[in-house]
Amino acid sequence: MFIEKMIDDDEVKRIATKVMDGNRISLAEGVILYDNADMATLGFLANKIREDKNGDHTYFNKNLHIEPTNRCVYSCKFCSYYQKKGEEGWEFSREQMLEKIANMGEEITEVHIVGGVHPQWDLHYYGKFFQDIKKLRPDVHIKAFTAVEISFIAKKSKMSVAEGLAALKEYGLDSIPGGGAEIFDEEIRQKVCPHKDTGEEWLYLHETAHKLGIPTNATILYGHIENSYHRIEHLNRLRELQDRTGGFNVFIPLKYKKENNELGYLGEVSIIEDIKLYAISRIFLDNFGHIKAYWPMIGKDISQLLLSFGVDDFDGTINDSTKIYSLAGAEDQSPSMSTDDMVKMIKDAGRVPVERDSIYGIIKEY
Ligand code: SF4
Repeated sequence: MFIEKMIDDDEVKRIATKVMDGNRISLAEGVILYDNADMATLGFLANKIREDKNGDHTYFNKNLHIEPTNRCVYSCKFCSYYQKKGEEGWEFSREQMLEKIANMGEEITEVHIVGGVHPQWDLHYYGKFFQDIKKLRPDVHIKAFTAVEISFIAKKSKMSVAEGLAALKEYGLDSIPGGGAEIFDEEIRQKVCPHKDTGEEWLYLHETAHKLGIPTNATILYGHIENSYHRIEHLNRLRELQDRTGGFNVFIPLKYKKENNELGYLGEVSIIEDIKLYAISRIFLDNFGHIKAYWPMIGKDISQLLLSFGVDDFDGTINDSTKIYSLAGAEDQSPSMSTDDMVKMIKDAGRVPVERDSIYGIIKEY
């Protein structure tokens, strides 16, 4: 086999052959491959799986992000977003947020809502907002809240996680975006976000959502104090849950960025680390349909490159509606792309642009 000639290390060769034969690799094999395979090998394997699953299709949607507030009861050490002492804060009223959606007309198919965990706003406060969105645009998909936001607002409304999710679904929630997974390893999580819900609580909430028929996405926050074992172990917990429910739409690696947060002294990992992480995610998560490069965070150029390392999704047009990564020092301080820009970017990388809905139904192939 061609791949065997590319690799010197016998153990890497054995694991790579297993991947090429379509077999699942174990956690231990995932760590060996990640630590010892060169970038070309990882890219070759990831691209094969990407093309087996999705051909040349590269998905995107037309979406608007709403970030209701940066006030937050938590203070995660990697977070550049929440309002710190002496910093400017914001709280949008439901009317202001609804106006942002109304201003988009028919242009968008999805509203993505995440923000800080506001001390006062409960589940019914947001529920009313969801109802208003659906009155305005019954066809728009509401993808909202990280797990920690949901568990907080449910608790505030005296509901269990399952009751809270069912109530949000009733109000109009269609799916959950997947942020807040951070890193599941208990020791590392304790160091970077000691007060936040645990990794097991994140997984429980997503499993409960899947059982209620609410699809969700999954993420990892990489590039701070975790090592390669912690990363693969994180992927392994997601793969196990996906085996049980099949409820995840897509996996999105999120890079730690250093500006305006407590861990800034760590700096940022290199582009080589980024590429390897995307590739190993595609190889390891054999039961996930899609891997997304979130371009406002990783950059447009690197996103294009990642289309050869396992990625088949570019998120959406965004319309300059998110501050989460610009506050953390991302290159693009006003992230926005027209459909034409998105289509060109994908075609320039030799792939086929496909506009999708929020659960990967095809709207238009370009
Ligand atoms: S990551 Fe989320 S929960 Fe943590 S401080 Fe930032 S906004 Fe709050």
